[in-house]
Amino acid sequence: MSEVIERVKCLIIGSGPAGYTAAIYAARANMSPVLYQGSQPGGQLTTTNEVENFPGYPEGITGPEMMVELRNQAERFETDVRDGWITKVDFSGPIHKVWVNETKEIHCDTVIISTGASAKYLGLPSEQKYLKLGGGVSACAVCDGFFYRNQEVVIVGAGDSACEEAHYLSKLCKKVTMLVRRDEFRASKIMEARVRNTQNIEIMFNTETDEVLGDGQVVTGVRVKNNVTGETQELPATGFFVAIGHKPNTDIFKGYIDLDETGYIINEPGTSKTNVEGVFVSGDAADHVYRQAVTAAGTGCMAALDAERYLAAKESFEEVER
Ligand code: NDP
Repeated sequence: MSEVIERVKCLIIGSGPAGYTAAIYAARANMSPVLYQGSQPGGQLTTTNEVENFPGYPEGITGPEMMVELRNQAERFETDVRDGWITKVDFSGPIHKVWVNETKEIHCDTVIISTGASAKYLGLPSEQKYLKLGGGVSACAVCDGFFYRNQEVVIVGAGDSACEEAHYLSKLCKKVTMLVRRDEFRASKIMEARVRNTQNIEIMFNTETDEVLGDGQVVTGVRVKNNVTGETQELPATGFFVAIGHKPNTDIFKGYIDLDETGYIINEPGTSKTNVEGVFVSGDAADHVYRQAVTAAGTGCMAALDAERYLAAKESFEEVER
């Protein structure tokens, strides 16, 4: 049973760079946006230490600080930022309905989906420990590779992302060891060839991570295990990169919005439009290629502009009808 039904002009789901940028633009266009933060306020950036590649911060900024600034900027223009988790949607009728925490029902003129994606991790306690400490575990080579210049790192994964990230790291690091759990890659032949032909990348097949080693603060190595021979060995490393895929946070939209086979929302090329009129997407929920804060922010801006134009066109149509 729903509590009360509220009507909202522009509902933004998600509080990463995409959601907040959409909010800044929507608020400045008088759309009175309401933004629900979701289960991880601030999004993936809150798991990053230093952000050095977002234009406008010449000295860098920590991920959590940057998210506070984005929130402050959105609130300065009176975005209504709320705690809450969108648990259900219904986009099948003329009114777009969403439910907050299973109870509160909201009817929306426009919806901007900015729910992002979550990096997959191995789930080992030692991996999670150093991830939380910001001590050398990362799921984004482009974000964090720079901190490991001239050092030795280990990367897990054998898909296109892992190959791309290993190659990126090889240009910064002294040595990159790639752990491949089977005896072959999943990546495309061309990406595989690139890592095989890079001198400072060592590939270890049939190899899994046994434990991420550290001194209690930072990573110092990785104990790996050959899953054919059972042999273990310790590799020295200051960085442990996980590149085993991402999961877009789009489960609640299944059946209402067109998703690709891996769950990413399909947008009309060059726009933020989904297949449902009045529902727009920004950020990593529709992007498995770039996945950067700055690209997410860019698509957040696009979504707000598309939503504003959609509303304006609808309002002038309704005026003509009257
Ligand atoms: P994928 O799902 O393609 O690959 C994931 C890799 O991680 C696989 O090699 C898998 O191993 C491995 N893996 C999964 N779980 C574990 C685990 N627990 N321990 C060790 N290894 C594990 O994900 P990607 O992110 O690489 O790619 C996603 C999509 O994006 C793909 O379609 C890809 O082609 C595309 N992409 C394209 C790029 C480009 O064209 N430039 C760049 C990046 C991505 P296994 O093979 O044994 O299952």
